[in-house]
Amino acid sequence: MTRDSLSVFEEVLHDLAVVKAIPKHLANVRVNRDLTLQDLGLDSVDRMAIIAELEQRLGNTFPEHQDPPSTIKDVLSWIDSAESVPFEYRGENFDLADVIIRGRRLPLNDRLERCSVSVSREYAQSFTRLIEPPLDRKVTVRDPDGHVRRMLMFGSNNYLGLANHPTVIAAVKAAITKYGVGVGGAALLSGHTILHAELEHRLAAMKAAEDAVLFSSGYGAIVGVTAALAGTEDVVYYDQYSHASTADGLKMAKCKAIPFRHNDPASLRAAIETQSDHSELYVAVEGIYSMDGDIAPLDQILNVCSATGARLILDDAHGTAVLGKSGRGTAEHFGVEGKVDVSIGTLSKAFAVTGAFAAASKPVTTYLRYMARSHVFSTALPVVTVAAVLAGLDVLEKECEWLAKLHDNVRYLNKGFEALGIPCRSETPIFVLRVPTKVNMRAAAHRFHERGIFVNAVEYPAVARNEQRFRFSLMATHTQQDLDELLSTTDDVWRNLLNSHIRAVGKS
Ligand code: PMP
Repeated sequence: MTRDSLSVFEEVLHDLAVVKAIPKHLANVRVNRDLTLQDLGLDSVDRMAIIAELEQRLGNTFPEHQDPPSTIKDVLSWIDSAESVPFEYRGENFDLADVIIRGRRLPLNDRLERCSVSVSREYAQSFTRLIEPPLDRKVTVRDPDGHVRRMLMFGSNNYLGLANHPTVIAAVKAAITKYGVGVGGAALLSGHTILHAELEHRLAAMKAAEDAVLFSSGYGAIVGVTAALAGTEDVVYYDQYSHASTADGLKMAKCKAIPFRHNDPASLRAAIETQSDHSELYVAVEGIYSMDGDIAPLDQILNVCSATGARLILDDAHGTAVLGKSGRGTAEHFGVEGKVDVSIGTLSKAFAVTGAFAAASKPVTTYLRYMARSHVFSTALPVVTVAAVLAGLDVLEKECEWLAKLHDNVRYLNKGFEALGIPCRSETPIFVLRVPTKVNMRAAAHRFHERGIFVNAVEYPAVARNEQRFRFSLMATHTQQDLDELLSTTDDVWRNLLNSHIRAVGKS
């Protein structure tokens, strides 16, 4: 079959309707193949959708461990090199990912129907599971068919076990008795309590910053900070594995956004050095990457920032109260405290509630209090949350054993996986087991569920189609026996996965 790679590409752009502006750029694509996908106004989520769609149509998986194509030329040469297989649409065989990615062109009723069919068919057991109290290392889960099972929880970011720590619960009860539950409005107009002010003060101290501003979610903090700081003439260089909140913040900022290779300071430096038309430079990275569990080389990234005059925005959602000798986060881990321009931490991971903060110099926090729309237009955190985090900070400071136990568990699990020959290593409480593309991961997820092990199955579009994975999150409260159960179940699932992978590869 002869195939014009450019028409394949254009057809995919058209069918996905990724960005309304695309048609006017297509003429440029024909003449200038050095244009990047970025130049077409496509963000990283769009790019992932395009690659996934091409994989689907070409019947050819993009090679693992290779950087995704970024210029039009790269995309076209990949299409050319892909095996020649007839194009095929999966027709009615839509699943939820398709609804998310391709649904933009479908009428709403169609999307609603496809969504409920695929949710009831495939996803009901693995997503939004119904947990009965208490929220602990062991939970009781009620399946959609009413079956109740005790499960070991390896799918929660409650890293230190603060979700039901007695000190936290007592502090929350005392605070609501004294204050009531909330202030009933955004801090800017309705004010905030002395507890909120105390929390901002303590979080600023934790991040060695002059001040901190509270936000009602991590997502909102990252979108709000990015959009408030980056002006339309500025450039933000962001790690290619950045969280969706960074992608959305960049869209809202309408600035120039340039990805660099994951955890690669040389790629960051090269990207910065090739640009000249900018006013301000920002670099956005995470402390611990949520879907990979690896740590950003923050010291080297800071070196690039100081050599190039870029400001660093750190999303330390998973590093806060997890990394560093006293749990102050990724900057403490690398001995670079006080050097990060804006440190964002979520209260939704180790602190086990919800909300977030941005810690920075006083001029920056003052600006954010008036300019970050997700702070200005969103109600102040409830007292329950503020009291829980203040008590969580006390526990972190006074009961150092929890942080130590968390890292003992990390070491124990590493040794266990190594002994079993399972490729799953981590320096952090997030462990990731990559599942080969051709393997039915949902069947494997079902096996974990049936064996009473609660884990996260992460599929496209949360990660690229060829990067599906299981994610295990450790807590300080897990016992060695809990970890042994995780190890033996993973061993069973992994062997089955390998067998089905070998069968699938044998058939293809
Ligand atoms: N950044 C990262 C790296 C995350 O993993 C998350 C949570 N998924 C967020 C930001 C958003 O935080 P929140 O859940 O508090 O909105």
